[in-house]
Amino acid sequence: MIKTISYLGLGTMGGGMVSNLLKAGYKLTVWNRSVKKCGPFGKKGARIADTPADAVRDAELVMYCLSNDQAVEEVVFGAKGILKGIKEGQIAIDMSTVLPAMSLREEEAYAKRGVDFLDVPVFGSKQESADAKLWIMAAGNKAVFEKVKPVLEHLGQTIHYFGKNGNAVAMKLVGNLIVALELEALAEGLVLAQKAGLDLSTVMEVVKVADFRSPLLIGNGQNILKRNFSPSFALKLMLKDADLIAKFSESLESPTPALPVVQKNLESAVALGFGEENASAIIRALEKEAGVKVKARGAGRSKETEQNDLRSE
Ligand code: NAP
Repeated sequence: MIKTISYLGLGTMGGGMVSNLLKAGYKLTVWNRSVKKCGPFGKKGARIADTPADAVRDAELVMYCLSNDQAVEEVVFGAKGILKGIKEGQIAIDMSTVLPAMSLREEEAYAKRGVDFLDVPVFGSKQESADAKLWIMAAGNKAVFEKVKPVLEHLGQTIHYFGKNGNAVAMKLVGNLIVALELEALAEGLVLAQKAGLDLSTVMEVVKVADFRSPLLIGNGQNILKRNFSPSFALKLMLKDADLIAKFSESLESPTPALPVVQKNLESAVALGFGEENASAIIRALEKEAGVKVKARGAGRSKETEQNDLRSE
């Protein structure tokens, strides 16, 4: 039974997962590029490591959740990276959203050192990570998956096994294609509703109950109406994923004709300075083009006041 874990990457997702692993009683070592994010976990008993290579010594299981392929490149393959410290018999799992090709490279590099590797990306966001309610996918050797499963059960509400390495991140990209298109649909719909002069609160009441409802549309729609774009899943990460999906679908000659539209709007929203906001801020690109701002109509707010709000943003 696994008792010692190293966790690298204490961002929005990693931070929540480490809290839950500490609560579950595992002996933790943590590492993060910006060391200040380690402090709160150090106070809860985790060892704070100086480098990825140092972080992974003595851990039965090494887990990491990093921004993108480049971060994985540095943390795994870099000069003081995981591969410099990890030894035969240990298990590594990558929870980042990366290309399946990256998972295969990781598998190969670990295998040369006698280390087992699983790709284990997740659905859910900041709240689901904090509440141990993630939807988890895993791929790699089945026996290794069975060993790691009890740990994953402390992090998520479902766990699906996908077979060979790379398949779980492939599923993650499939899911995020759907997420990206849902966000685009929501943004286009709300801007159209605003242009049509509909009461946006009533629009959202319908979105909540109609047969096209989804938790993603409801949560993001309500936050857009409150102009709450605080990040659970950063817009820049949605753009990163859209680019990964484009590469992945091209490599398989699978058509994704709507994706370039989403990429363009994500790029515009990033260029407007909203990359650190939540992915729902994709609507800001369409709002600019449309010359409106989507907002619940407050008591006594005139159309003119709303136009002034837009100009002052
Ligand atoms: P985040 O809050 O931005 O955290 C990213 C983490 O990666 C931080 O620990 C960051 O370190 C580290 N990092 C970035 N570049 C690095 C580099 N070059 N070298 C070393 N460390 C580096 O992101 P997140 O939301 O937790 O997402 C992490 C991964 O999970 C991404 O692949 C994302 O697509 C995926 N994901 C996110 C969500 C979500 O809703 N947020 C949901 C599912 C999957 P610093 O603290 O030093 O910047």
